[in-house]
Amino acid sequence: MTTPKNKAPVASWLDYDFFPEEQKAIKSFTVILRTVGCQWRKCTMCGYWHESADVTQADILTQLERGLRTSPEEDFILKIFTSGSFLDEREISRETRKEIARMVKKKEKIKKLIVETRPEFINDEKIGDLNIVEHLELAIGLETADDFIRSKYINKGFSFEDYKTAAEVVNESGATVKTYLLLKPPFISEKRAIEDVIKSAALVASYSSTISLNLCNVQKYTPLEDLWKKGYYRPPWLWSAVEAIKEIKRRNANVVVMSDPVGAGHIRGPHNCGRCDTEITDTIKNFNRTQDLSAVERLEGINCECREVWHALLKFDDFLFGSNV
Ligand code: SF4
Ligand SMILES: [Zn+2]
Repeated sequence: MTTPKNKAPVASWLDYDFFPEEQKAIKSFTVILRTVGCQWRKCTMCGYWHESADVTQADILTQLERGLRTSPEEDFILKIFTSGSFLDEREISRETRKEIARMVKKKEKIKKLIVETRPEFINDEKIGDLNIVEHLELAIGLETADDFIRSKYINKGFSFEDYKTAAEVVNESGATVKTYLLLKPPFISEKRAIEDVIKSAALVASYSSTISLNLCNVQKYTPLEDLWKKGYYRPPWLWSAVEAIKEIKRRNANVVVMSDPVGAGHIRGPHNCGRCDTEITDTIKNFNRTQDLSAVERLEGINCECREVWHALLKFDDFLFGSNV
């Protein structure tokens, strides 16, 4: 059913992103389109599909046209996200995809287009439809290279092998891959969560032009929220994010590493003690644009007592959490 809500994007905003093709930060413009939403809907931490609605394909085009009205006048990166998979034709039909490509092509200032999708929807034909800008990037929410964690704790419904096959198709087409990794899925300890993203980054680096570290936050009406309410889950410490970003960037210097600290400093989001959260969040956001680790490394010198608490947590992690010691 067409309603006024269906004719406007869920949100759109302007930011800056590192643009690896020119090794500098440029404007990025994000448009979130409301579609029928992700058809999988089973990931334990995800409530994005609640933004879905019974929209028509014409609604989707209207949303994009409205969203693009406020796009930048100068060169920019365009991110068109749905709360699901852009390449799932139940959300965006082939005709709509092609029309979106035509709309994007008309905007000469768009240097790069980024869309998100699950790997099973990726094929040459769909990539071909979108290969109309200088740079096309497909973002895949792998979350972790560990099949056990992804299937048992996240319930993602695809394997690392599926991701690799899709990423190869993307890279062979000349487009690039952005891989999302999830810091601290449910049921794993803080220390193991850090180790998992560092290890995963090493395994996806050769497929990815960008690794985006998603710091897990507690979204409404999700299994993760139930765990959190019962006290079985704490979102990651921001110190863990700092540690992971540093190690991932140091070990994979050619890959763009970024992390959008959604909900940082709040109880449902990644947080520390409350006193040092803002400084750390700002430093991470700045790193996203510069890729210069020095400011992130200087965070170790912050005189905040919670760093000792976090250290102690990691130190005793195996005794407190594991069952084999
Ligand atoms: S994380 Fe992605 S695949 Fe999983 S339910 Fe959410 S939108 Fe769907
Ligand atoms: Zn602190």
